[in-house]
Amino acid sequence: IANDLDILELPFHQYLEHQSWDKTFPLIRDSAKCIKCMRCVQVCDKVQGLGVWDVEGTGYHTTVNVSGHNSIREADCALCGQCITHCPVGALRERSDTNEVWKAIEDPDKIVVAQVAPAVRTAWGEELGLAPEDATVGKIIDALKRMGINYVFDTTFSADLTIMEEGNEFVKRFTSGELKDRPMFTSCCPGWVRFIKSQFPHLVKYLSSAKSPQQMFGAVMKTYFAEKLGVSPEKIYTVSVMPCVAKKAEREMDLYYEEYAGHDIDAVITTRELIRMIRSAHISPQTLVDVESDRPMHEGTGAGVIFGATGGVMEAALRSAYYIIKGENPPAEAFTAVRSQGFNENDGVQEANFQINDITVRTAVVSGLGNTRELIRKIESGEVHYDFVEVMACPGGCVGGGGQPIHDGEERA
Ligand code: SF4
Repeated sequence: IANDLDILELPFHQYLEHQSWDKTFPLIRDSAKCIKCMRCVQVCDKVQGLGVWDVEGTGYHTTVNVSGHNSIREADCALCGQCITHCPVGALRERSDTNEVWKAIEDPDKIVVAQVAPAVRTAWGEELGLAPEDATVGKIIDALKRMGINYVFDTTFSADLTIMEEGNEFVKRFTSGELKDRPMFTSCCPGWVRFIKSQFPHLVKYLSSAKSPQQMFGAVMKTYFAEKLGVSPEKIYTVSVMPCVAKKAEREMDLYYEEYAGHDIDAVITTRELIRMIRSAHISPQTLVDVESDRPMHEGTGAGVIFGATGGVMEAALRSAYYIIKGENPPAEAFTAVRSQGFNENDGVQEANFQINDITVRTAVVSGLGNTRELIRKIESGEVHYDFVEVMACPGGCVGGGGQPIHDGEERA
């Protein structure tokens, strides 16, 4: 390579090798494509509420600064990936982890186990020309198995685990009086967890201590499932198919690393990466058939499925709390008010109060980090009070996640 101009002429994968990007950070900017339209900055500031006050430099040298906490510092990226889905020229992208997955599939010493998140099924088929009713999770399972993945499960199984943990924890913290000043916040969205850690660190103790469904799945695979198969945990290679970019960073947290088994989750691919893998394996989407997920982690409830949309986690947790308190299942429609009905489009907040025996539970559901910042301001100023708050970083929840197919008038996975 003679000079910088020669680097620009390289095929993209070789061009990436010459960039000084931090390969541990899963959001990549290709300065050669950036047209400086600043849509990424707009969505970060106006929609995601990072409070951008200044943009310095251009292209690869750009830094985005934010104000807050009496100091001004480089933006604390939540990795929600909304900038990727709003970039009109593909200058922003997630780090591709598909090669790692292909290598694991080819490795005879690895047993590759995949999970598919509920929100992936809502969007993957569009890019492949499948009608919504044909784009089932069973066909994703078929595609993954044809690629060579040994076992495929639906994340609804571990979403149920998260909900049981979170519902129990809420009842315990609520009845002990721990939530009289501040609500318990859900913790399953890593974009939100990154946001609260960087922007409101004093509130971190109010996050639920439950792991996200992705991480619960990984832990179950490298313990219980490895034992079931009679193999050591390091033989299991876990792959998550997610609508999310922040999940790539979640898997890298020290918290989820064990000396003997490695990371609970070995690779995270977005819905867009799944589509690329299907294409590169030359699988014709029209030939896919419905295949059931493997056993024993086959069972999943409707509660796990509704995780993918804003309000779903809250409804599922309240249903569990109801069962824990009353010892019986709630009526089917008992908590649906926390989802779409009465959703306030102006502030992105859905409020609802519920009566369980003589207890009133005050809840709020919010999506989009700009809306979340405003809601936290109101909570801290005493304008509103809740017992339980669900936060999803992406507007509308994971169905609108930063790893989902891009809608810009062109199909571009
Ligand atoms: Fe990821 Fe869903 Fe959170 Fe978006 S809302 S950052 S897709 S977990």
